[in-house]
Amino acid sequence: MVKAIVGANWGDEGKGKITDMLAKEADIIIRFQGGANAGHTIVNNYGKFALHTLPSGVFYDHTTSIIGNGVALNIPLLFNEIRSITDRNVPEPKILVSDRCQIVMPYHVLFDEYEEERLGGKSFGSTKSGIAPFYSDKYAKIGFQVNELFDEELLKEKVERVIVSKNVLLEHLYKKPLIKADELLETLHQYRDMIEPYVCDVASYLDKAVKENKTILLEGQLGTLKDPDHGIYPMVTSSHTLAAYGAIGAGIPPYEIKQIITVCKAYSSAVGAGAFVSEIFGDEAEELRHRGGDGGEYGATTGRPRRVGWFDCVASKYGCRLQGTTDVAFTVLDVLGYLDEIPICVGYDIDGEVTTDFPVTHKLEKAKPVIKKMEGWKCEIRGIRKYEELPEKCRNYIEFIEEQIGYPITMISNGPGRDDIIYRNSPLKS
Ligand code: GDP
Repeated sequence: MVKAIVGANWGDEGKGKITDMLAKEADIIIRFQGGANAGHTIVNNYGKFALHTLPSGVFYDHTTSIIGNGVALNIPLLFNEIRSITDRNVPEPKILVSDRCQIVMPYHVLFDEYEEERLGGKSFGSTKSGIAPFYSDKYAKIGFQVNELFDEELLKEKVERVIVSKNVLLEHLYKKPLIKADELLETLHQYRDMIEPYVCDVASYLDKAVKENKTILLEGQLGTLKDPDHGIYPMVTSSHTLAAYGAIGAGIPPYEIKQIITVCKAYSSAVGAGAFVSEIFGDEAEELRHRGGDGGEYGATTGRPRRVGWFDCVASKYGCRLQGTTDVAFTVLDVLGYLDEIPICVGYDIDGEVTTDFPVTHKLEKAKPVIKKMEGWKCEIRGIRKYEELPEKCRNYIEFIEEQIGYPITMISNGPGRDDIIYRNSPLKS
């Protein structure tokens, strides 16, 4: 059985925690898109970890963690990440890397930096991990697949060919040092030696696993609104954040994905630039940011403060719809216990017309939030394990949001730990 765990919004919804929790009952966990540009924060028996490339299943010894072909693989970062967890007494995880996975080259990271520098105030707010230059090269068909590291002749010829156009840009557009073929080849040889023990024909490994009825989790990065087609283009990421892409980025048949768990946070947060209709500012924002997540809403990769806002029913309904949601996991609800009243964005006012349909970007820029306020429950809800035991006002909040988004909330996360979860039979669940 294949399940996808994906985000409804801008990312940081708590997918890592939900994946880590579900990994207890899973055999295989796969990252299928994105790179080391975003992180998952996980709190478990070993401590608190920020993962960037590794799937959130690496803390169990019964699981296999896979980097799928859809991922932007930064080999040295993967290595450092493995070391960072084993140094903290986590047993060496079983990791496989797809032989079709492409490699983030040192120049991708540099081009990302140079381009942000060149764009100045008009930049995309990139994390400068090389992700956009990486995916551009992948689709321009000048990327390097892991398997190519093992064909010396091919590698040498390709390096020499690819750097020609890169060097034109470096010299004339960015006025930066040029790439030297021999140095790049030397780096790629190091990458080859690092990655060799993990390389696998992942699609055929998974074909077998599906036939053996293994439980397989596809772990998404970021969320619907960052998808290059369905998100807030161009303030998006460069790989597809939708569960549908899990089939491609892992190499499994789409009809094998039987459950799509879309993670929605009980309020909103976003990193980087782009329209964010329910965003709040000033002291109100500072308080939510400070109390949010587990230790505040600050980026797991960059440490930069996240933008925060109230729950956005319009964006989340759309986010859940595009994912093909079978279950919503509603997270970080415990954080809202300090509020007397909880504002919720229930519609967008665009030039005087109210809509609950998420618009295209140029209209989104004009949207003003239509806010409804609900009464807060004003108490600590961590530690509660049964839905009926949640305060009535808290259940009202959950049920109102469920009705607005139209997808069943079957899991409620009320703390960062593995056990901080409440399962619920939703009336929407067939
Ligand atoms: P991801 O990228 O979707 O995995 O999300 P992040 O890991 O960036 O952000 C989620 C943050 O919220 C992390 O710090 C988690 O430890 C934390 N978290 C997850 N679920 C809960 C929850 O139910 N309550 C609280 N307080 N924190 C949570």
